[in-house]
Amino acid sequence: MAIAYLCLGSNLGDKKRNLNRALKEIKNLKMVKVLKVSSIYETEPVGFKDQNWFLNAVIKIKTKLPPLSLLYLLQGIERKLGRVKGKRWGPRKIDLDILLYDKMIMHDDKLTLPHPQMHKRRFVLIPLIELGTRWKHPALNLTPKMLLEKIKTGQEVKLSEVKWQV
Ligand code: AMP
Repeated sequence: MAIAYLCLGSNLGDKKRNLNRALKEIKNLKMVKVLKVSSIYETEPVGFKDQNWFLNAVIKIKTKLPPLSLLYLLQGIERKLGRVKGKRWGPRKIDLDILLYDKMIMHDDKLTLPHPQMHKRRFVLIPLIELGTRWKHPALNLTPKMLLEKIKTGQEVKLSEVKWQV
């Protein structure tokens, strides 16, 4: 059994509904148990700035699925919820990323673990801290709090009034 952390994001269409539908689909996966769910955050886009703000959240799961199978199932959910391939870091109805999978470090053309951008993103680190993880980045050997302190640039992240409905 592995512990993994996933990031959910949406900045297109009915963002609240997209996040709720994604969480519901993840809860329905047979080999996945959702252990913790962060609050929902409103976050400034990173990378390609000229787009809507995102709603983001992080969840903690327990799973017997190997990482690549988990990724394929998450991509199936993205397709089901109507995500179409677009610009890298551009607008999307739903984005599901694997942030961490135990202490696994891997890199191939399909999957990089930990997620290659996670340590640079306030919208990932702030909800991770909320979940109270004691995890340290397996390559950088720093806690989410330490990683957050290293990020100097803006990237606004606000607790949202939007609440989970699933
Ligand atoms: P994105 O557009 O940000 O969702 O990126 C999707 C692509 O990133 C997919 O082709 C995945 O194969 C790849 N990818 C690499 N590492 C990860 C990861 N840790 N979580 C999700 N997608 C990943």
